[in-house]
Amino acid sequence: MLRITFPVGPLACNCSIVADETTREALIIDPGDEIDDILRRMREAGLSPRAIAITHAHIDHIGGAARLKAATGAPVALHAGDLPLYDQLDWQAEWLGVPPPPRAAIDQGLRETEPLRLGGLQFEVLETPGHTPGSICLYVPAEAHLFAGDTLFAGSVGRTDLPGGDGRQLLHSLHSKLLELPDATQVIPGHGPETSIGRERKSNPFLNGKVRLI
Ligand SMILES: [Zn+2]
Ligand SMILES: [Zn+2]
Repeated sequence: MLRITFPVGPLACNCSIVADETTREALIIDPGDEIDDILRRMREAGLSPRAIAITHAHIDHIGGAARLKAATGAPVALHAGDLPLYDQLDWQAEWLGVPPPPRAAIDQGLRETEPLRLGGLQFEVLETPGHTPGSICLYVPAEAHLFAGDTLFAGSVGRTDLPGGDGRQLLHSLHSKLLELPDATQVIPGHGPETSIGRERKSNPFLNGKVRLI
């Protein structure tokens, strides 16, 4: 597996380009902004964009999806639970103080029962509602990698005070899905530095019982 992760946009959302080293097919996770930079990185690495996956429909993660789809023809995948949030993209832009980006038609739903395949890579979809109703994480078991969106951060968890957020649901998702993964799992959060499941299990105050979210 080949992976390039870098922050995009004013909220520094971590965008990842993940590719099969042999077939050079790439999945782009959370292209929130800076599409020219994403396209340049793929060109330089000799990768062919095949699909776009969105962890949740906040503008900093989905804002560039329409432009990236127009430039590459790659289909966009999002969990159905976040479609209402995507319908409010203009409102999200206003809230953030940026011009509303173009909207893409969503081509594919993301469901726990339907892993994404890309060359020899398999991405399991973990439904992790809480930060938003349709938040998902993408887990690559063979590479021990988790793309966590805004569900889990190094030392913290996603906020639940925005429309559609639910703290109780978030904690349930963290305990029933993410803490079930092996300690060695490398976590690429939606913002900030990378971490591992083992480190968060031990030291994240929201997960080790030190802080209660409700
Ligand atoms: Zn978010
Ligand atoms: Zn975010």
